[in-house]
Amino acid sequence: MSLSMATPAFLIERNLDRCIHCQVCVRQCANEAHGYDHEEQRVYSDDMRCVNCHRCVVLCPTRALSVRQFPLEFRANANWTAEVIHNIYLQAATGGILLTGMGNDRPYPIYWDHMLINASQVTNPSIDPLREPMELKTFLGRKPEKIVIENGRLKEALPPQLELELPVMFSAMSFGSISLNAMKSLALAAEAEGTYYNTGEGGLHKDLYPLGHRTIVQVASGRFGVHPDYLAAGAAIEIKIGQGAKPGIGGHLPGEKVGREVSETRMIPEGTDALSPAPHHDIYSIEDLRQLIYSLKEATNYSKPVSVKIAAVHNVAAIASGIARAGADIIAIDGYRGGTGATPLRTRDHVGIPIEFALAAVDSRLRDEGIRNQVSLVVAGSIRHSADIVKAVALGADAVYIGSAALIALGCHMCQKCYTGKCNWGIATQDPNLTKRLNPEIGAKRAANLLKAWKHEIKEMLGGMGINALESLRGNRLMLRGIGLTDRELNILGIKAAGE
Ligand code: SF4
Ligand code: SF4
Repeated sequence: MSLSMATPAFLIERNLDRCIHCQVCVRQCANEAHGYDHEEQRVYSDDMRCVNCHRCVVLCPTRALSVRQFPLEFRANANWTAEVIHNIYLQAATGGILLTGMGNDRPYPIYWDHMLINASQVTNPSIDPLREPMELKTFLGRKPEKIVIENGRLKEALPPQLELELPVMFSAMSFGSISLNAMKSLALAAEAEGTYYNTGEGGLHKDLYPLGHRTIVQVASGRFGVHPDYLAAGAAIEIKIGQGAKPGIGGHLPGEKVGREVSETRMIPEGTDALSPAPHHDIYSIEDLRQLIYSLKEATNYSKPVSVKIAAVHNVAAIASGIARAGADIIAIDGYRGGTGATPLRTRDHVGIPIEFALAAVDSRLRDEGIRNQVSLVVAGSIRHSADIVKAVALGADAVYIGSAALIALGCHMCQKCYTGKCNWGIATQDPNLTKRLNPEIGAKRAANLLKAWKHEIKEMLGGMGINALESLRGNRLMLRGIGLTDRELNILGIKAAGE
């Protein structure tokens, strides 16, 4: 007896005048939304299975396919929307929590879009980045109170720093949640553009050790794949406390995605669920965190910066202050729109705060306490384009992490079904028939091109402001004006209203 009352989310439309029954769509769809009827010698669709990943639409040689929302209308009701009703049907049939992938898609305000960037006019003329040097180099790590130069050289060595050619890194995404080819794409792009990618909580695959100098190795609550060689291989170490898409809860990689290579890399049995606990079971206070930070520094001879990643939550400024005082060199803050491979839908959509507010609050607090130079701030959680980066830097960030944008560059079509392991674009999957769809060299080229393009755009916007070094924009909130914001919001962001 079926308990399901679910209706399709999407409608597959096939133009029969164009379809040549080549079966490309049948072969390409891992969800089996297309089939071939050998008796009738024709292709058919099963709308119920379609996740709207666009794979068939993009690869159909005759442009015969389109996919749209399934046109089933419920009586208009602002409270009981079709989505709410559909989700209740699903839970009534399964008794399970609703899972999803990627970031929060609720229509909450996007504060980046309520901030506008300044530009020079008559005085302080703008700079032409094509003709004049423009510096985007960024160093992440603890900065000294003062520097003493003797004989043209620094008298004392700087604390360990990450050196970035532009203020953008690839976010933590684990091998397991994404394919090895996706990891390789990001690692190679980071190498090409002088930045870093991050292992996430899944350990470092043996093929990626040669790119260790471009790798931030993560230590998460599950400690998957963490051993001395792993720590030694990375350019920096990141302790993951929280993640924007699922603040306060642990991670779950289903056993189906734990094949031989993932199991070897994570050091767990093949086919078992990889469950990382919500807390680190050795961290219950800032003092405990300090112990782990210094254990990791000790284990790597104080040669690598140690970052602590947290989710943006209500008291984020006080939390960040504690982390800075605990000895972290970098604090990474992930806002509530941050993506993930798998998370409970309700947590993703209803927990956390916007990264824009978190960043402004943390930067202000650390400045007020006179400890801003002790840590670098990296922010994440739906950085969509170069203007978001410029605004983040003006609000106080040293750099940003990008995850979803990087995966879109690799070919992700935002279907949000990463948790099923059936990513038709070869990204969020371990199925060998699917992973081979992503060529790491092509992926690397596309991800590197995205960074190149953003680098040009950041230089254009800096030049437009009459600024020739990103360092001069960092925390310079006078370069931002708010639009459509309340006084309270302007106050938290620490910016003036447009027209002021
Ligand atoms: S890929 Fe396009 S042309 Fe080929 S069977 Fe599918 S719809 Fe028809
Ligand atoms: S990574 Fe793949 S499964 Fe995840 S949203 Fe993108 S296309 Fe869909």
